[in-house]
Amino acid sequence: MPDIHAKLSASGAKKWLSCPGSKALEEMFPDETNEFAEEGTLAHSVGEAKIKYAIKQLNRPKYAQIMQNLKVNRYFNEEMEEYTDGYRDFVIEIYNSYKKEGFAEIDIEQRLDFSQYVPEGFGTGDVVILGNSCIHIIDLKYGKGVKVDAENNPQLKLYALGALSLYDSIYDIEKAYMTIYQPRLDNISTCEINTDVLMKWGNEFVKPRAEEAFNGLGPCVAGSYCDEGFCKARPVCRTYNEQKIAIAEKYEFKQPKTLNKDEISEVLDIADSISKWVTLVKNYALDQALKGEKIPGYKVVEGRSNRQWNAEEHEIINAYMKKADIDDFDSDEYFKALDTIAPRKLKTITELEQALSKTKFNIMLGDFVLKPQGKPTLVNFEDKRPELNTTETAVEDFKDYIREDK
Ligand code: SF4
Repeated sequence: MPDIHAKLSASGAKKWLSCPGSKALEEMFPDETNEFAEEGTLAHSVGEAKIKYAIKQLNRPKYAQIMQNLKVNRYFNEEMEEYTDGYRDFVIEIYNSYKKEGFAEIDIEQRLDFSQYVPEGFGTGDVVILGNSCIHIIDLKYGKGVKVDAENNPQLKLYALGALSLYDSIYDIEKAYMTIYQPRLDNISTCEINTDVLMKWGNEFVKPRAEEAFNGLGPCVAGSYCDEGFCKARPVCRTYNEQKIAIAEKYEFKQPKTLNKDEISEVLDIADSISKWVTLVKNYALDQALKGEKIPGYKVVEGRSNRQWNAEEHEIINAYMKKADIDDFDSDEYFKALDTIAPRKLKTITELEQALSKTKFNIMLGDFVLKPQGKPTLVNFEDKRPELNTTETAVEDFKDYIREDK
């Protein structure tokens, strides 16, 4: 589950451990949720209920009630039902295997406090199983964008440190097992670590970096985690942008014929990341411009939009036929203009305009054409389209497009 209130979250640990400056920069941006996060939260809740029912922490009526409430969520579907069944079965299998060895306790959605290593640090372990001299952390990843590996995964290691803090005073724990269960990528990844090595990592590696990050003192260091960790500071982070510019500049003055195959391969490797970077910066600049900030050399204009029919197909055909005063659908030229191959299917606006001529089209069907408002677009000042005059107008007209700081 997301570590909703932790300042230095376990899920973002790879980012702030590598780039201690990220925490201070990200604080400039509001927290945002998105459909993927909402879908993931739902999958966790469904999985939690299923496991709790399987281990008899929920009785049947309570379980049925919880599931009924969860299933009305717009993100619930058969796929989620299947994947969470698999998750439950996997967890129960592991739990039973520890039971067979003589001892097992299981906690679902357990709060894990690792503030001994990270200031105010805590998170929620999806599943924590306590076995004979070991703990086993299982983390459900419902996303399918990035394959997540358990090996050397700081999020899991922080959860394991939190579990150690919780149980170590009662039990003698020598080993931590950590598993990522990522059903939509068919990915189950497990690793193990001795608890003395884990605590050494916590004390010697995590602690100093966490303190630096928490106090906003550390430098910014760019890496793959900028994008993988969805750093909110990317559009304005100097280090990140300079890194992208340096990559882009490396190829700027080379003609394609001078690139060898290795270089082309390298360009392809970075193309995706460059393109994401450009989109990020463009979206950020548009947001700022719509909020009234001036971006030198750029203006906001109404973007282009496609014309649409404003009524149902049969209504348009009927009205068209009426206007043309046509009774015999099968022979008339107006009818042929509609569509010669599939008579009851309406052609596109452009096709009909070409078939009839612009003037005739306007007379016959002009009333059925809608030109939606174009999305706001940030363009170079040389663009001929008029600038949207005032901030008030732009904000009012395009309020649906602005990602407000809520
Ligand atoms: S974009 Fe990358 S370098 Fe910049 S603050 Fe975020 S993680 Fe650090």
